[in-house]
Amino acid sequence: MKEDCIFCKIVKGDIPAFKVYEDEQVLAFLDITQGTRGHTLLVPKKHVENTYGLTEEDAAALFKRVPKIARGIKEAFDPIGLNIINNNDEPLQSVFHVHIHLIPRYPSDGMVLTTLDRQDEYGKEDYEAVRKAIKEQLD
Ligand code: AMP
Ligand code: ZN
Repeated sequence: MKEDCIFCKIVKGDIPAFKVYEDEQVLAFLDITQGTRGHTLLVPKKHVENTYGLTEEDAAALFKRVPKIARGIKEAFDPIGLNIINNNDEPLQSVFHVHIHLIPRYPSDGMVLTTLDRQDEYGKEDYEAVRKAIKEQLD
């Protein structure tokens, strides 16, 4: 629990939220913004700022609940698809209590969340340099 954290306050019940799921370790509630109908946030009850700070156990506890919430949203609203997003650090992240966005998608919903195909910009050496840079940090 972090005193000035809005999601800790929601977990504690100090401020209201539209809760859709809760157990000992996680809480899921509607994003106040509703980027699309059913946009839901999944958070750990334990305060951790973002993905960089999660232990493997924290991550397992959080991410293992994702399919359940995703299925619930799919069943409820029959979207054409669903994006799962997790923002880390400013300026992407605005609430510094780690959370996963589950965003159901509908035809012409106006959300722009897509990856660009950059295959024509990358040669074998570029992939290899990128691979090496990341792998060096993981070995
Ligand atoms: P992010 O940019 O990934 O940190 O997103 C934080 C999200 O939290 C935004 O989509 C906000 O709409 C949402 N949010 C902020 N305050 C609340 C709140 N009190 N209840 C529900 N969602 C909130
Ligand atoms: Zn918090």
